[in-house]
Amino acid sequence: MKLILQHPTLNVLILLGFFSFMLWGLLFIRLMVSNGGVRPGRFLIRRGSLKGVQRALVVVAHPDDAEVYCGGSVATLTRLGVPVTLVICADGGKIYYQFGRRLIPNPLNGKGGRLVRLREEEQRRSARILGIKEVIFLRHPDGLLDWRNLVSQLREMMQRFAPDLVVTFDGEEPSHLEIRDHLAVGRAVLSAAREVGIPRVLCFSTRRPNVVVDTTPVMSLRWKALTAHRSQFHGVRGRLAVRILRGLARRNGTKIGVPYGEAFREIWITRGSSFSPPQ
Ligand SMILES: [Zn+2]
Repeated sequence: MKLILQHPTLNVLILLGFFSFMLWGLLFIRLMVSNGGVRPGRFLIRRGSLKGVQRALVVVAHPDDAEVYCGGSVATLTRLGVPVTLVICADGGKIYYQFGRRLIPNPLNGKGGRLVRLREEEQRRSARILGIKEVIFLRHPDGLLDWRNLVSQLREMMQRFAPDLVVTFDGEEPSHLEIRDHLAVGRAVLSAAREVGIPRVLCFSTRRPNVVVDTTPVMSLRWKALTAHRSQFHGVRGRLAVRILRGLARRNGTKIGVPYGEAFREIWITRGSSFSPPQ
């Protein structure tokens, strides 16, 4: 301690570390609140049904995305007996993040390979809680996803699993504050889904939601799955995330008259329909 106090540089570094931790906390809250919420009175919202789905493919960027954005709907699908396959595009190494065009080094989690292995373990554990049949890790470098490099792999997945429902980020009408990896996944999935002719896509983290799925019966399962990602949602961070996401689920639920819900932009696709994502 004495050694630390005698070195002004170390003091500055400790202070910087503290402030960056606080900044990340605030940024985290901001992201959660801005993503996937239904703004009152702006759009016509219907009740989204998951009954009759034969096979679902959920495609996200990072380990924990599925639990944060659509965990309740995934649990609802598996409870209905629908086989769900989860595809994680990036390795979750968190060397840095990209927001807009800016590249920000991650001051907390840049532990490379060790973190990747830990997050994959957490994802497998969480998937078991949600009843997900299979998790596929594509292991692209975290923070560097490019939709063009994902399309052919995702097309192949869609041809292999032949899902009648795909769930992913909104790559066309994203929420106003969106991570670039999320956008890349959304764009790639929509492009591949249109080529293959997947009939129905549910996009979360959207600024134009048109359906809300009732997730009330599975909420406790959802929190259990979310906090299985211990490296991300442990202690205060975990409690904060649950509180924010519960508030969001409550606001979405009121749109269709249920306690809790998840909002999506539902797209019905006819084979080969045109799609030109923004560059
Ligand atoms: Zn993510």
